[in-house]
Amino acid sequence: MKLRLGGLVPWSSIDYPGQQAAVLFCSGCPWRCRYCHNSHLWESRSRISWPEVSEFLAKRHGLLDAVVFSGGEPLAQSAAVRSALIEVRRAGFGTAIHTAGVSPRRFAQVLPLVDWVGLDVKGPFSRYAAITQDHRSQDAARESLKMLLASGKPYELRTTVHPALLSHRDLMTLVAELRELGADHLTLKDFRPTGCEDAELKTHYEPWLTPELRRDLRALMPAIELPTP
Ligand code: SF4
Repeated sequence: MKLRLGGLVPWSSIDYPGQQAAVLFCSGCPWRCRYCHNSHLWESRSRISWPEVSEFLAKRHGLLDAVVFSGGEPLAQSAAVRSALIEVRRAGFGTAIHTAGVSPRRFAQVLPLVDWVGLDVKGPFSRYAAITQDHRSQDAARESLKMLLASGKPYELRTTVHPALLSHRDLMTLVAELRELGADHLTLKDFRPTGCEDAELKTHYEPWLTPELRRDLRALMPAIELPTP
């Protein structure tokens, strides 16, 4: 197994809703989101081996429900992630993936092997290139999102908001686009400066969730989850 992992969290109750899960942080990512707080995982280095993970999981039967493949971007090494997912399922655990949908072709290869998907939606499609610094990201994200919604798998869509990258209008466009594609829920998360390498974003952060925006977003998508004031 050639899966390169940057780390392992032995227990989490928040990375796969309703499940007690271990979280594996896959190394590598083709995008360079300006707010990324996992830039230490961009390089495809391995800090923990698969035999170590297998040994750990063998002692967690009855204590863990599932294993979450997070990152970095798990689709950056989809063949190895696929093999790992098969092994985790054989060992009797549920499976989940956190991804930004960087490659619909690779997403199609792992989707049948996961029970739940946390999909990072960067913003309205027109803002992808500015956020990810990859001009092809918009098309990849759109196809992956459509694939997820068509799959019938349980999912969570989440968007990190920094007001320098997403305006009130951008957020309204994002929610309208998601509704049009058939999504009825989205979680908006505040930008976190920890781990972010973009000095401008760290310096110029301001509160963005005004009462008007809260009202407008809820009118478009009643189930939207917003940060608490
Ligand atoms: S897709 Fe995720 S891991 Fe990759 S740069 Fe963006 S936030 Fe970071």
